[in-house]
Amino acid sequence: MIEIDGSHGEGGGQIIRTALALSAATGKPFRATNIRHGRQKPGLKAQHVAAIKALQKLCNATAIDATIGSETLEFYPKQIKSCTINGEVGTAGSTMLVLQSLLLPAMLVPRVKIKLKGGTDVPFAPQTAYINHVILPQLRKFADIELKLLRRGYMTAQGEIEITIKQKDPLPIELVEKGELQSIRGISHASLDLQSRTVAERQASGTKHTLPIQPRIETTYSQSETGSGITLFASFATKGEVSHLNPVILGASMLGKKSLPAEDVGKQAAEALVQEISSPGCTDKYAADQLLPFLAWFGGSYTATELTPHFHANKYAIEQFLPNTIGIEGNLIKKL
Ligand code: ATP
Repeated sequence: MIEIDGSHGEGGGQIIRTALALSAATGKPFRATNIRHGRQKPGLKAQHVAAIKALQKLCNATAIDATIGSETLEFYPKQIKSCTINGEVGTAGSTMLVLQSLLLPAMLVPRVKIKLKGGTDVPFAPQTAYINHVILPQLRKFADIELKLLRRGYMTAQGEIEITIKQKDPLPIELVEKGELQSIRGISHASLDLQSRTVAERQASGTKHTLPIQPRIETTYSQSETGSGITLFASFATKGEVSHLNPVILGASMLGKKSLPAEDVGKQAAEALVQEISSPGCTDKYAADQLLPFLAWFGGSYTATELTPHFHANKYAIEQFLPNTIGIEGNLIKKL
């Protein structure tokens, strides 16, 4: 039985999400203790329980102590099967984080369709546009994936996404040569009730004096509870050509806050993107941790702008299932 220490490193939920993904993929059961020990309210949160329930459907797993607040968990996976999953977080907990437990195992069978209700653009988690424009272009080396935003959920349980994952012959990830900045694009979004205050447009215009080149930013409003956000993504090319298979894309996002002028939301996202662009590395500091389980499974190498505590937490969780698979040399991460 693999033992996972949930208090390892910063002691966050990342360790559990990744342990669940790798357990389902490898078929190895695990026991976790001290879950989210480093957090103010330790134990499983609704998004982790939603991930466990979805995995129970995907691989007919048995889970013990899979309740909100539980600081221990036992998880026994069985065979992964093609299926349709209808899940819900039940709170504004991030559906994008739930996917971190599901995507890798779902890629190992012919077809999985997942519908999930919960938050879609919430704090401390990737925004939907970030997953669509920064993460999925990389994951399409391993599977055909389509993500649809059915309803945006800012701070509510009412958001909904649908994702379809179809198996294909995987290729390793190769993101080592950054190349030259080619373009910056973005999605600036807000709820309909903020349209009269042109929040999405003002977030977009807030990026203006900070970015090194003129961005192309789409603005969009949706029927949802009040909220807004912006995701920017910078594309790089080597000898003028953006690689279709291994595109270098760095992203940065910011969510709107009541006390923060919309222009400042855009400016802060732009500053975060400039920080990523000016650091050596082909993956931004968030993608670096999110791509790691896929690197360990499918192989290859990539450079990162920063190796965060999340990255190291993920490495710890992955290596409990796949020992000695990840090598680090400076900012280069490679499958051993
Ligand atoms: P918990 O809060 O449940 O303890 P945790 O500490 O693991 O979980 P977070 O710190 O919220 O969770 O981060 C979880 C994941 O969200 C990481 O994979 C991180 O890369 C990603 N993430 C957080 N913020 C962003 C962002 N602005 N853009 C993209 N990804 C993000």
